[in-house]
Amino acid sequence: MSAFDCVIVGGGIVGAALADALVGEGLSVALVEARSIGAGTTACGMGHLVAMDDNAAELALTAWSVALWRELADGLPRTVEYDACGTLWLAADDEELAAVSAKVANYRAAGVRTEVLDAAALYEAEPALAPGLVGALRVTDDAVLYPPVAALHFARRAQARGARLWCGRRVQALRPGEVVLEGGEVLAAGRIVLAAGVASPALCPGLPITPRKGHLLITRRGAPVVHHQLVELGYLKSAHGTDGASVAFNAQPRVTGQLLLGSSRQPGVGTREVEAEMLERMLKRAAVFLPGLDGLQALRVWTGLRPATPDGLPLLGPHPEKPWLWLACGHEGLGITTATGSARLVADQLVGRASAIDARPYAPARFLTAAPREVAHA
Ligand SMILES: Cc1cc2nc3c(=O)[nH]c(=O)nc-3n(C[C@H](O)[C@H](O)[C@H](O)COP(=O)(O)OP(=O)(O)OC[C@H]3O[C@@H](n4cnc5c(N)ncnc54)[C@H](O)[C@@H]3O)c2cc1C
Repeated sequence: MSAFDCVIVGGGIVGAALADALVGEGLSVALVEARSIGAGTTACGMGHLVAMDDNAAELALTAWSVALWRELADGLPRTVEYDACGTLWLAADDEELAAVSAKVANYRAAGVRTEVLDAAALYEAEPALAPGLVGALRVTDDAVLYPPVAALHFARRAQARGARLWCGRRVQALRPGEVVLEGGEVLAAGRIVLAAGVASPALCPGLPITPRKGHLLITRRGAPVVHHQLVELGYLKSAHGTDGASVAFNAQPRVTGQLLLGSSRQPGVGTREVEAEMLERMLKRAAVFLPGLDGLQALRVWTGLRPATPDGLPLLGPHPEKPWLWLACGHEGLGITTATGSARLVADQLVGRASAIDARPYAPARFLTAAPREVAHA
């Protein structure tokens, strides 16, 4: 039987980043992936590295994670397509623009650089936008990248420093100190970390993770030229509702001259087929902001399942009922962004070191209580 300090289950961007971080701590690590590295939700993600300020815990983790990505940026291979393009949050009316001042204050308090653009500055920055927008918030340090290749980069770097990768090997069961692979092989592990994204509850029943389906579309070359990741401020209203399907304008410039267009959200939907009605809603919304899309051909359309928790924050830390099991899952629509911070946070906990941010808001114990122990009667 092979034995490791830590076995990570799931080679998405979260598991791969964690493998890299733990090898850096000098631990012996195995990363087990049922398919290939990055083939799960990571392959379906948009790759927007975005500081989000819905609540303090989300902002702390996303801002820290974006900063960690920036530190890594110079060492990333070109194939990761990291592009520090920043985000423009577009205000369609004065009410949306007024809401920007609260966001500016939040971001500044977290050390995130922002700039408010009036309409003239916005159209100078992005001439392809439809007329009538009143301004925008620029979040300077946000970036974009190609998620599956970023995951592969982490996994290969971990492997080069001694980690064992087991790809094409499905984990069948988790037991105290043991990871059982399909076929019966067993890996002994001092610690097991479950990073299987939306599939995590299959290996640990009771985890509060449900799928939130999303559609994306990539255009052919020749799309309207945009320079930032563009998101409508209305996205904030639509992205976080838990009931009902929603769409919002979200466009990403690719280094290839294509545009990646999102996004839709369907809470609780776990099927992967492309739905024409959702796609049509998404494209109509995109055309409102980028009229130059009319007549442009789509190259590919796909869907993915975001692993959503009830409060939108990931589960990072020990399972309160299973001292041998750690969780790094439930990243919903921000797992590409927060892979760096999540990996650091879990690695810090595993080696017993304080993190740069407070780990408590992400502790699985907020949903999973320790099993009641029998009370000894005198
Ligand atoms: C349409 C869409 C757009 C998105 N856009 C963005 C974005 O712009 N920015 C952002 O930050 N995030 C975005 N996300 C979210 C992001 O993609 C996810 O949060 C992230 O990919 C989750 O990574 P993960 O490693 O936890 O899960 P996954 O990538 O799903 O990895 C889990 C891995 O575990 C493996 N696995 C499962 N079961 C087993 C088993 N039994 N044995 C072994 N291996 C197993 C799977 O094969 C998989 O590879 C988007 C998601 C979608 C769907």
